[in-house]
Amino acid sequence: MTIIDGKKVSAQVKEQVAVETKELISKGITPGLAVILVGEDPASRVYVNNKKKACELVGFKSEEFNLPETTSQDELLSLVEKLNNRRDINGILCQLPLPEGLDENAVIEAISPLKDVDAFHKQNVGRIMIGDYDFLPCTPAGIMEMLHAYNISVDGKKCVVIGRSNIVGKPMGMLLLHENGTVTICHSHTKNLKEITSDADILVAAVGKPKFVTADMVKNGAVVIDVGMDRDENGKLCGDVDFENVKDKCSYITPVPGGVGPMTVAVLMKNTLKAARLQNGLK
Ligand code: NAP
Repeated sequence: MTIIDGKKVSAQVKEQVAVETKELISKGITPGLAVILVGEDPASRVYVNNKKKACELVGFKSEEFNLPETTSQDELLSLVEKLNNRRDINGILCQLPLPEGLDENAVIEAISPLKDVDAFHKQNVGRIMIGDYDFLPCTPAGIMEMLHAYNISVDGKKCVVIGRSNIVGKPMGMLLLHENGTVTICHSHTKNLKEITSDADILVAAVGKPKFVTADMVKNGAVVIDVGMDRDENGKLCGDVDFENVKDKCSYITPVPGGVGPMTVAVLMKNTLKAARLQNGLK
């Protein structure tokens, strides 16, 4: 059993981004990422801090916009519009979830598709579907990069994704399909979940429920990818997979923390670099 080291792979990705950023800066272009945070959700604050730190590390300019919980939809959209028009900002990210009363979809659609480094805009989602894209969504793309780093082939494998959210489950299924996996996507209406998951060569858990995937749901020798960022009964960070009991059945498994999370941030850096290139007429 190998524990996939997401920290290590993400450090390699960020190192490469840093090298390419230096080259870009020498041409007078400094990639810029704008991060919008509305309200004071503590988990969102941690994610935003991690993204800012990563920007510093790779040499980007990052600008944070902390808006109060009481921000109106119009105020938020007008900030997005301003950022869309700023040449020094190449990527715009609005940390989700938004406080109640704000329309997430409207905000996602307001971000210019060229600056949509999360790849949530429907134009980018459509392009991913047909395999002709500039940006991939950070979490699923980060998972694919981890698989590549460990030479885990998807081709012909039975891949099961638990979860069908727009930001993780659905695009995850699509990326596995692009690499010739045979993909099943499960959700809360799925019947006989255990039967389906225990047939998976590659199992991705994106459920949002602590230790949801138990050892009896996993095939011997499976690759298990844990997207979950949950809290256990003691308030400690854990994943969607019961790591201690599942790990010995796996060929590969990702830990929480130190697995998928760092990869998500690394892909965000890649996307922002690409956005800066494209907006400046470079490939
Ligand atoms: P989400 O939008 O809440 O989606 C959860 C999915 O799980 C839904 O599709 C839901 O089905 C399905 N589900 C719930 N209960 C189930 C059950 N009993 N059996 C089968 N499926 C079930 O969550 P998300 O945004 O995709 O996030 C999932 C987890 O990943 C969360 O813990 C989140 O914090 C974490 N996350 C981590 C990263 C990272 O960088 N590491 C990034 C994003 C998210 P229905 O559609 O039928 O409701």
